[in-house]
Amino acid sequence: MPDNMKYILVTGGVISGVGKGVIASSFGTILKSCGIDVTSIKIDPYINIDAGTFSPYEHGEVYVLDDGGEVDLDLGNYERFLDITLHRDNNITTGKIYQQVIERERRGDYLGKTVQVIPHITDAIQEWVQRVAHIPVTAENTPPRVCIVELGGTIGDIEGMSFVEAFRQFQFRVKRENFCCAHVSLIPMPKSTGEPKTKPTQSSVRELRGLGLSPDLILCRSEKPINHTVKEKISNFCHVAPEQVICIHDLSSVYHVPLLMEAEGVVKYLNERLQLNISMPRPGRFMQKWRNLAKRVDNLRKEVNIALVGKYTKLEDSYASVTKALQHACIASGCKLNLTYIEAVNLEKQMKIDDPVNYHKAWQDLCKSDGVIVPGGFGQRGMEGKIEACQWCRETQKPMLGICLGLQAAVIEFARNALSLKAANSTEVDPNCEDKLVVDMPEHHPGNLGGTMRLGKRKTYLEPSLISRLYNKEVIEERHRHRYEVNPEYIERLEAAGLRFVGKDETKTRMEVATVDSHPYYVAVQFHPEYLSRPLSPSPPFLGFLLLPVVLKPRSRILRAAGRRRRRRGRGAGNAYLFSKPAGRSRGTVAV
Ligand code: GLN
Repeated sequence: MPDNMKYILVTGGVISGVGKGVIASSFGTILKSCGIDVTSIKIDPYINIDAGTFSPYEHGEVYVLDDGGEVDLDLGNYERFLDITLHRDNNITTGKIYQQVIERERRGDYLGKTVQVIPHITDAIQEWVQRVAHIPVTAENTPPRVCIVELGGTIGDIEGMSFVEAFRQFQFRVKRENFCCAHVSLIPMPKSTGEPKTKPTQSSVRELRGLGLSPDLILCRSEKPINHTVKEKISNFCHVAPEQVICIHDLSSVYHVPLLMEAEGVVKYLNERLQLNISMPRPGRFMQKWRNLAKRVDNLRKEVNIALVGKYTKLEDSYASVTKALQHACIASGCKLNLTYIEAVNLEKQMKIDDPVNYHKAWQDLCKSDGVIVPGGFGQRGMEGKIEACQWCRETQKPMLGICLGLQAAVIEFARNALSLKAANSTEVDPNCEDKLVVDMPEHHPGNLGGTMRLGKRKTYLEPSLISRLYNKEVIEERHRHRYEVNPEYIERLEAAGLRFVGKDETKTRMEVATVDSHPYYVAVQFHPEYLSRPLSPSPPFLGFLLLPVVLKPRSRILRAAGRRRRRRGRGAGNAYLFSKPAGRSRGTVAV
């Protein structure tokens, strides 16, 4: 297939978890700033077909795409950094490739041949990458010019071998000027000597070469900045020029990573290596949006304490998108996020007897917070704790944002305490409960867990309310991932008692947004707004949630000064940023 697509393969060496995903996304950010349309593919060499059946304990959150694909959370990084919309095929797993090859074999496509890893699996991988790379990922449907392929895991992993071999062949299939390899490695600095050590990088580059791939760029992650001699040492031992070694030390925020990479000459190198024909950007104004963003994040001072009442609180990645969405809203509202994870079970009454220390600690954390998030989740454990948190927020006028299971908990709480339906529950928790406030939807197929939920982007029709003002729209689209819904039989009674359903689906039978009018910010949504939040375009329910504690809290010196400046300019008091339009892709003016 003639192909002018440019591919950047990002591999990892030494250990995983050093920020390969952020570095890969940063390549995209830099190229996008040069006016180049970028797409990305994440390869996860595990056997699962997709991330849908993953436990958040093990892998972190399951990220959901517009098309309902349940994918690795790294795709969230790409969508947020590049402001693009990916598809389920942008996430490749060993399971998907083998499934395709086995289906072809059953159909007889291989004409009696022995089906083997080389060439059949490796061919299938290359075809998949080439096909998906051309799919547009922007709202304007522009064809991408560069595809960033991130290979999960580290070089040398058995499960990644067929992918490495596929790319060894791929570099010849697409030609040298269309393919380059960036290897992300680690430079440890052992405490005993404090010196940066290059040996692990040398070994992993040797391993990569042994498998037939030569790194064009070696990106060295380290705790502290690395000096020039180390760069030269890597250059000498790894057979690359010094300008091909990029050092990325720990930075104050991820938004600095593309800026540092740019400063290290990534644009110039890629321009030449991939013949991109970029007219070199003038220093200074280039990537100004990112510079401003990074600066703003560094200068957030006024702290806001948010409690997240969850179930998978041991692994912070379990709530990666919720945390990011909170951060985006914080950037927009000019405050610094202080996030406390509360194990929902610890709020339950039984814990007062079983584990009083953690019970009181959990309640103390909840009471100290300026706002509470009750995120999505599955199963029975912690549900009562989430219901307790909802009740406390509703009764004490504390800002609360409930997401998916959070909405279901809020509805059950309201039924129990405002309608006195003491036996109200969800059939997910208690299939035989007396008052089934939350019931399973027809889409729910017990026995088959993968991909059987109400998934992906769907429309919600909003009634005039705080939430429609935040979105500044009557029809919104957000991503879903659930099996259960509010039982339509109880809607009338719930609404009569003050729980208003101000967002519904097109059939008007599925409840999407619930609010309590007598409360400053009690918002619960059946969808997951966190997936569409972007650094420069925060999700409206999160922004509303954050604005309130910021407005209600006594003002900091900085905000008072900002107010004085604004008054001098005749724009009235108030936080200069709060009530103006957030920069970037606009989701409407916030008017709360
Ligand atoms: N477990 C609930 C359901 O399936 C909520 C799902 C979620 O929070 N994502 O409906």
